[in-house]
Amino acid sequence: MKIIDIGINLMHRSFNEDREQVVQSAIDAGVSPLIITGTSERSSIIAAKYASKYPGKLYSTAGIHPHDAKSCTPETIKNLEKLAKQDCVVAIGECGLDYNRDFSPRDLQRKYFEAQIQLACETGLPLFLHERDAFEDFYRILEKYKNDISHMVVHCFTGRKEELLAYLGLGCHIGITGWICDERRGKHLIDLVKLIPQDKLMIETDAPFLTPRNLEDKPKDGRNEPRYLVHILDELAYHLDEDMEDLAEQTYKNTKRFFNI
Ligand SMILES: [Zn+2]
Repeated sequence: MKIIDIGINLMHRSFNEDREQVVQSAIDAGVSPLIITGTSERSSIIAAKYASKYPGKLYSTAGIHPHDAKSCTPETIKNLEKLAKQDCVVAIGECGLDYNRDFSPRDLQRKYFEAQIQLACETGLPLFLHERDAFEDFYRILEKYKNDISHMVVHCFTGRKEELLAYLGLGCHIGITGWICDERRGKHLIDLVKLIPQDKLMIETDAPFLTPRNLEDKPKDGRNEPRYLVHILDELAYHLDEDMEDLAEQTYKNTKRFFNI
């Protein structure tokens, strides 16, 4: 069985001591390649540099998280454009809107979200999207570009049914994380995942965050790792009433096609 983690924050400081080991444990568990999420100009540069050392095993995205919109300038977008030319960089993002925490002013979030969508349209790369408590603005902006975007994925989807259906209507892929393993917060997702067409479904850990709550062997430090993607797949297969191997194959195929890897 082989599966791909489409969202891992591998350059996060919690992996500083054992990054290579984390990648190797993932490979040993059948989780490979990994797609490292770029969340700021700096982290996107570092991610691409690291990923380029492991061709075929690691890829990365280049983007600015809405939390970081406040530090963006037109120069930032130019630098993302340069990064996007590297072989290991397979998507623009993560980018989007986050009105849950409002770490950046909303007008700046919208401005740099749109700039990154335009970059995706120009480069032909897919978009790796983040949305929290910002559905209406997010949808309105995305809809303008839907015909020019090659592919897009709403990563770590945790929203409502109407939102899911709207995203699917735009042709979005949907990324499911260990949120589905949370019997409190993730309960509503159990019904919603059944509405995702098989060819639009992808899986991710968002490690080191979102450690699946129902892991049997819980890590002592609470850190999530890409190898736990197997557990997320298992949980998802259970709720979809599907064979785990079949689901692995389907999501693997979707991911290869989506990122053109
Ligand atoms: Zn995110």
